[in-house]
Amino acid sequence: MLFAFPVFQDDKNWLNSTLVDVLRAGMHAIDEGEAPVVWPDCLPDHLRPILRNRSGLRNRIADFWPAYQALDADQKLRLRQAIDDQTNLPDIFGLPRNCETIVGLPDPVVEAAGQLFDFAFKQLKTLKLDGECIRDIQYKAIYDQLQEKICPFCGLNHFRAPGAPRHALDHYLPASRYTFAGSDFRNLVPCCHECNSDFKMDQDLLFRDDGTRRQCSDPYMGPVYTVSLQGSRLFEGETVNRHRVPLWVIEFVGGPVAHAQTWDEVYKVKERFVRDILNVCFIPWVEDFARYYVQHFGKADEVDEVYHSLPDYIAGLGLDHLRERAFLKTEVLRLIYNSCNGGENAEAARIWLWEFVEYGVT
Ligand SMILES: [Zn+2]
Repeated sequence: MLFAFPVFQDDKNWLNSTLVDVLRAGMHAIDEGEAPVVWPDCLPDHLRPILRNRSGLRNRIADFWPAYQALDADQKLRLRQAIDDQTNLPDIFGLPRNCETIVGLPDPVVEAAGQLFDFAFKQLKTLKLDGECIRDIQYKAIYDQLQEKICPFCGLNHFRAPGAPRHALDHYLPASRYTFAGSDFRNLVPCCHECNSDFKMDQDLLFRDDGTRRQCSDPYMGPVYTVSLQGSRLFEGETVNRHRVPLWVIEFVGGPVAHAQTWDEVYKVKERFVRDILNVCFIPWVEDFARYYVQHFGKADEVDEVYHSLPDYIAGLGLDHLRERAFLKTEVLRLIYNSCNGGENAEAARIWLWEFVEYGVT
């Protein structure tokens, strides 16, 4: 990811941990041959007034007990391990910590846990503090602190302002497998619709389809990456709208390779950068530069004069990392400059750039 979310309001994140505590205490009681403490007495004193009338939670917890009781000893151990692991964010995002999913446990307990935490997730929209629902408080706190209101998983799409129709709040680890983190804000992140619905969907960030373990960034802690295009080759890519674009080589810089690899496998960022931005914007970005050059200097007398203006042009754009896709645009312009400045194609690159000034701008 391109940046980590700036804030995590731990004091608002009590629903998931409260339910997990209730489950742990009830499971312990069942294992001891006793009945779980009933709702709302099972809740901590300070939350009882807020939750006591939430009969949907009460009923779903009551449904969980017989499903737990029906498990054999090994299954109970696995379930407990799943609860311990899935409530141990962010440690499980990396190695060596492993994480038990709920997949493969008997259907009744999977169903009961799923019903409970899916309902709890929906409660985040109705549980209010000072008149505002917890989910909106969390989103606004994150949104307000973002310098650029852009999705960190792609860098391409803007977040909607608080009060607009909500984006899906993404379950970073999918609730179908990591059920016990289903209403934990540590696992709930703003994510643009495209990343959430078209690319990530229900994919598991901790395991590939073949079962091998992978590592992922913590949305609130990173690691985060910058994008380098400097391994790209100027005249060797495909032809787009009659122009040859570079052969794009995209590298993620600044953190471990394993986490970046998961980011790309799940969100298909390199593929999206090339198809949706780089191939489409390459020539317009060169034309923008040529227009700037002509406006400031007129037509160039010498071929070499043109590319010498690129560093000033890049600096003058004043673009920071995320604004107007600067993390790609400035990299493209740097690639052109470096290609003109050295290497076997430098002469051809200088002439190619000069031709935009000479013939491409009217
Ligand atoms: Zn996105």
